[in-house]
Amino acid sequence: MSNLDRQATLSVCGGRGFVVAEPVRELLSPRRVPLGESTEVRRLLPNLGRRMVGAWAFVDHYGPDDIADEPGMQVPPHPHMGLQTVSWLHDGEVLHRDSTGSLATIRPRELGLMTSGRAISHSEESPRPHARFLHGAQLWVALPDAHRQVEPDFEHYTDLPTVTAPGLTATVVLGSLDGATSPGTTYSPIVGADLALTRGAETSLPLDPDFEYAVLAMSGEAHVDGVPLMPGSMLYLGCGRTELPLRAESDAGLMLLGGEPFEEEIIMWWNFIGRSQQEIEDARRGWMEGARFGEVKGYDGAPLPAPTLPPTPLKARGRVR
Ligand code: MN
Repeated sequence: MSNLDRQATLSVCGGRGFVVAEPVRELLSPRRVPLGESTEVRRLLPNLGRRMVGAWAFVDHYGPDDIADEPGMQVPPHPHMGLQTVSWLHDGEVLHRDSTGSLATIRPRELGLMTSGRAISHSEESPRPHARFLHGAQLWVALPDAHRQVEPDFEHYTDLPTVTAPGLTATVVLGSLDGATSPGTTYSPIVGADLALTRGAETSLPLDPDFEYAVLAMSGEAHVDGVPLMPGSMLYLGCGRTELPLRAESDAGLMLLGGEPFEEEIIMWWNFIGRSQQEIEDARRGWMEGARFGEVKGYDGAPLPAPTLPPTPLKARGRVR
């Protein structure tokens, strides 16, 4: 998915200064962002109070939306740089096309993992016909400096490893959890897992105390470390945890996101992650000139123009928010 926010702002993220070294319970509220004409998404990262969780740098939660009589998701070709995108669905399907020639329909509990590396462009749309409901999350992972120039690539996995406990099925989307490892390519120590809880479940998951974590609530009524989470909200958990207590009042769907704190300071703007404002400006120009990000074939519509860069030069944020 693209960041369709027309008032795209430059933001500096990453660095140890933002990481909480001990366990905390910090509730993050979503910001509602319109996506196209008929839908909106709930943006959890970057958030006013928190920019990243490990290398996770962007989290949108959308739906469930009834799109029976709607076009659904229609995101025209747009570029990415310096990141991976993770498409994760609970309902519906997304048709993905990209400039490496990939054409894939991503369905619930399948991993669509796109590594932009230095440059890629893609489109995402609800196919025709499509399922009635669309519900999912779109996430970005920042690439560390040593790997952010890798070749663009797209991976699609339909069968991911799971970890189970009474009342819990955890699907490992990215990285490793409790000894199970996703086949998706990663470039930093990270984990992303879908947690499906059944009503009445009371269990816990083992965590790595060196990772920082957050949990996104997608559906149902669950308590994470004792905190009730409404769908569309996220709980930041800090570092230093060896386990995560979970309880479900109803069937519930959560996403666990974690990773080693991302030490490098990054600059995010629109669909790009870079290290300097110059790099961002060059990427924007490269997209508008049509040369650098390749071509998405088969999408019925014009590519997305880049928003205007803010006129004021970027100022680095302090280490303490
Ligand atoms: Mn995108």
